[in-house]
Formats: sequence, structure tokens, C-alpha cells
Amino acid sequence: MSTTHPASTPRPVAAVRLDGGRLCLDFVNTIHDRYAANVEDYVQDPQRFIAWSVRSGALRPGDGVRAPRTVQRRAALMRDVEALREHLHALFAARVDGVVAPASAVRGLDRWLHLAWASQSLGADGHMHWRADARDARLPLKVIALDALDLLGDPGISRLRRCANTSSCGWLFLDTSKNGRRRWCAMETCGTAQKMQRYRRG
Ligand SMILES: [Zn+2]
Repeated sequence: MSTTHPASTPRPVAAVRLDGGRLCLDFVNTIHDRYAANVEDYVQDPQRFIAWSVRSGALRPGDGVRAPRTVQRRAALMRDVEALREHLHALFAARVDGVVAPASAVRGLDRWLHLAWASQSLGADGHMHWRADARDARLPLKVIALDALDLLGDPGISRLRRCANTSSCGWLFLDTSKNGRRRWCAMETCGTAQKMQRYRRG
């Protein structure tokens, strides 16, 4: 588990980049510069996690989900957030690297999928709906788990990539470019940084 060092002026949630191309990847990418010595966690407290969930679409603004109040519940939520994020990173990184996913990560996602399915009921319209008692701070984790399952079984996952800036970034993204040769999470961040480095070295 990574240690977090809150920035003196936290980055506004509205300024957090969503470059993954999928909700579940954007969630994995809520760690800025995964391979840096001092890691910035965009969702380091329940309020930020819920604000990010609304911004990314894991929650709808009308879901009315609030952060838990007690210290214990807040700490428990953040343990769940960090654990699912690490499990998903391990699962998707294994796909990128062409290796077998760690069993602990498979079990971790499996647990959240079962929680997600148990939190839904079939409606008269023939669709599954979130139960009223599921509209709490853990709802985004369930939505994210279902999105991850969808991606893992999608042939399009062959376009899953890791940002070529592996000295710090390490973000995962779906390469939707025409030629399938996108290297950076975003040209204007890591792509530009790499160009500058080459320029200085040259
Ligand atoms: Zn990057």
C-alpha cells in the first residue's frame, strides 16, 4: 500500500484529469504519478472521493450520497477505496504485461462484484436498479467494480496501455487512436514532459 503525502494546496477535484477512457481506469489513475517517491492521492478523504465520483460519473449528482460521519466509518471507506484501487491496478497491469493476475486481486474484485449484485433489484421495467439502501459512500466502488468486469471481458481491452512515462506516471488508458500507437496518458502532460527531457539532453 502506498503512503500518501497530502499536498499543501490540494488540487481541486474539478482539475483532476480523466485520461483513462473508462471509469474503472480513471479510478486506478486517481494516484498522480504512481511511481513517484511522494504520491499524490486525488481521493485521499471521503469528501474528495465522493466529489471525484460525481465528476467521473461513478455517482450521479442526484444520488445524494454523503461522506460517512464517524471516524471509524470514514477510515473503513478509505481502506476500501485504496484496496479496490490496488486490486484493479494489479488486474489491469497484469493484462498490459501479459501475465496472470494475482489471485488476491481477483478475489478483491470478486468481492465487490458480489456486493454490487446484492445491492440491486430487478424492476418491473426488466432492468436492475440500485436498491435505496445501497445509496451510500460505497456505491461508487460497486459501480466501478461492474465497469471493471465489463472491461476485463471486452475484446477492446487489447488496447489497454500503460503511459510510456514509467519513471513517474504509470497511468493506464485505453488507446482509442486510429493507429493504436498512443504512448502517453495525455500528450499535453507526459508527452510534452518527455519531449522537453529529450530537448534538454540533446
Ligand atoms: Zn502519463
